Amino acid sequence: NEDLFKNIIGHAKEYGYVFQSSEIYDGLSAVYDYGQNGVELKKNLREYWWKAMVQMHENIVGIDAAIFMHPTTWKASGHTDAFNDPLIDNKTSKKRYRADVLIEDWVEKIRQKIDKEVTKAEKRFGEAFNKEEFLATNQRVLANQAKIDEVENRFKTAMENEDLADVKQLIIDLEIADPISGSKDWTDVRQFNLMFSTEMGSTAEGANKIYLRPETAQGIFVNFLNVQKTGRMKIPFGIAQIGKAFRNEIVARQFIFRMREFEQMELQFFVRPGEEMKWYDYWKEERIKWHKAIGIAQENYRFHDHLKLAHYANAASDIEYNFPFGFKELEGIHSRTDFDLKQHEIHSGKKLQYFDPEINESYVPYVIETSIGLDRLFLSILSDSYKEEQLEDGSSRVVLKIPAFLAPTKVAVLPLTKKDGLPEKAREILDELKLDMTCQYDEKNAIGKRYRIHDANGTPFAITVDHQTLEDNTVTVRDRDTMEQERMPIAELAAFLDKKVNM
Ligand code: ATP
Repeated sequence: NEDLFKNIIGHAKEYGYVFQSSEIYDGLSAVYDYGQNGVELKKNLREYWWKAMVQMHENIVGIDAAIFMHPTTWKASGHTDAFNDPLIDNKTSKKRYRADVLIEDWVEKIRQKIDKEVTKAEKRFGEAFNKEEFLATNQRVLANQAKIDEVENRFKTAMENEDLADVKQLIIDLEIADPISGSKDWTDVRQFNLMFSTEMGSTAEGANKIYLRPETAQGIFVNFLNVQKTGRMKIPFGIAQIGKAFRNEIVARQFIFRMREFEQMELQFFVRPGEEMKWYDYWKEERIKWHKAIGIAQENYRFHDHLKLAHYANAASDIEYNFPFGFKELEGIHSRTDFDLKQHEIHSGKKLQYFDPEINESYVPYVIETSIGLDRLFLSILSDSYKEEQLEDGSSRVVLKIPAFLAPTKVAVLPLTKKDGLPEKAREILDELKLDMTCQYDEKNAIGKRYRIHDANGTPFAITVDHQTLEDNTVTVRDRDTMEQERMPIAELAAFLDKKVNM
């Protein structure tokens, strides 16, 4: 799977989906740029989300808040004091790590050891049953499992009690070595705030430290009353937002899974206190349906309900996706109570209440949040779509089977040759189709090579204009996934394609 992931990353670069930021200067770690195909896929994902959330719900509206916010916002939300990762340095390599990730990696290694033992035992079981051997394996597996539980509990307790010395001790007790130098000589663990800061205003007028928002949610909370009043919204109602967020992540790995600058698509749904569990269940259901409707492998999604809750939540669940490196969080669904609005009331001195005419009462609403990283969603689609196929004729191809409604380019229009008026005819077709969908004209290379390139780009249909086209106004339409070609009158193309490729 590691190789597969490398191939996916390579493909993303080769076909203009994702580039390393500032690549000519050797890149900037955990920052990425989207290329000509990536920007289209991203745009389509945004649109799919926005349509499902805002257009399809009459009680949900959108906003676009600024990235910079008043610094007190982050005091109120808890980010200034508590948005931290525990860091540790290796004294030999001088490399910096997240203590929780070092421990997580250790746990993962033991897990893999268990899996290996179990697989081996199962295989041996079929060959020759040896009771002692079986029991010994069983005991080792149980002991390792117990060890994992013990380590996870100790880490959790240490973090809850802010006992950073014990986190360091745990790393020493587990004999965790620096993956680079192999050294086990660690510094103390300290907390590191993940927010990026900068200065606003010139020094002469007194500069103020401000932050790049680490989440888009707070822009919604501080605008809660503005939207409710001007939009005459009645509870329950929601505010949706798509925008950039910034986190100074320490561990930069796994490509666009964990970035320092990324994009979030968030909904904050305001409900009557006491009704939050009903809406929490409703949104869990809605969101998983939305994911599954994309049409990629259904078994790659699962819920992970949180037992340990963040300070603001009374229920939380992640939708996880089976990335090439395993099941990981794709979207978070939280019941945030009235924590954020209450905090903003305290820090701003302004009332953030809603008068509910149905029960004749004013209250601070409770909030259900759904929050998804657009870049992670992008990665899930890319990973799922990437296929290396062996064909019947012995050749092979790489194809991106991106669902057609999300594909960057919907149709490639290809004249079979560069002469005999075929290019002109092809352009005529393209000029008609481009009013309704993204198209690409391509006359370079032999036709077979061109099909492969557009397969690799993820373009679901290729239209070929040949000499017969000039006689009877028909073209062939090639399906990316089946590679089958169908002859069709030009007059029927637009309607045929529109049904297949548009959202
Ligand atoms: P993680 O535990 O993976 O760091 P998180 O629990 O901190 O994620 P949230 O604060 O719940 O994440 O953010 C909501 C969503 O934003 C996540 O589900 C994820 O899709 C996305 N996200 C968060 N951090 C990043 C990041 N550094 N890069 C890309 N996407 C991110």
